[in-house]
Amino acid sequence: MFDNLSDKLDKALHVLKGHGSITEVNVAETLKEVRRALLDADVNFKTAKEFTNSVKEKALGQNVLTSLQPGQLMVKLVKDELTELMGGETAGINLSGTPSVILMSGLQGSGKTTFSGKLANYLKTKKSKKPLLVACDIYRPAAINQLHVVGDQIGVEVYSEPENKNPVAIAQNAIAHAKQNGFNVVIVDTAGRLAIDEAMMAEIADVHKAINPQETLFVVDAMTGQDAVNTAKAFNEKLNFDGVVLTKLDGDTRGGAAISIKSVVDKPIKFIGTGEKMDAIDVFHPARMADRILG
Ligand code: GDP
Repeated sequence: MFDNLSDKLDKALHVLKGHGSITEVNVAETLKEVRRALLDADVNFKTAKEFTNSVKEKALGQNVLTSLQPGQLMVKLVKDELTELMGGETAGINLSGTPSVILMSGLQGSGKTTFSGKLANYLKTKKSKKPLLVACDIYRPAAINQLHVVGDQIGVEVYSEPENKNPVAIAQNAIAHAKQNGFNVVIVDTAGRLAIDEAMMAEIADVHKAINPQETLFVVDAMTGQDAVNTAKAFNEKLNFDGVVLTKLDGDTRGGAAISIKSVVDKPIKFIGTGEKMDAIDVFHPARMADRILG
């Protein structure tokens, strides 16, 4: 059995306490445990180090050393800091447009199409919206079909033009269609590649410019660790996106990518995906993620 971090810190500090006064050195040692937990959760090294340095200053300033339960206090401090680092509060999405246009970006396989369906379903069932899904992948007919299958499952219309090879025109036509037919949210699913390439980036940047969406979301597989951070950086440079969607959190990842991405691109994580089904979506709660990362 592994102790959770809370137990580990409590034990470390308790034992030390029995041997006289707890010192700055002891605090630093227990923070090593915190850093290890962060690295285990796939937080990048630089972020983990900066984080523990900042917690150390706070710990020394807050009388952790003389408290009755220094371990517990330390865990609270770490959790609060982590929560803050991930944005503190839950971040909403902008649905102010008529219609509100949401552009989905990300690599192929990240879960973009699945998430587009989940978001449409969420907005329909939880927010009483009338969403339209748009298939803008002009390279893979299978991707268009996949979105139609998803749309059928959740009872949401899917707009596609299989013969049209111009994603900007498809997106614009879809928005016109939405306006004419009373859809108040338009979710545009774009083409993804297995790795970042210039052509894909140029294409999505063109679509972005032409439709000027209220929300641009970047979808990333939480299991991809450090790669997730590099991908986020590349997409953010091109699109200056508004928020991140972290998918596949039902896997055994601890979700450290959430911290690394937030600290590198400084954009809020807005939603998470927790399974393949259409209802496996949740808004992102920084405090819950902090608990998960700390174990
Ligand atoms: P896209 O290429 O970015 O559009 O990715 P897809 O939506 O096709 O998803 C790729 C694979 O990941 C599919 O097999 C999905 O069922 C699966 N997937 C998507 N989101 C999740 C999730 O949150 N959890 C799990 N376990 N699988 C997911």
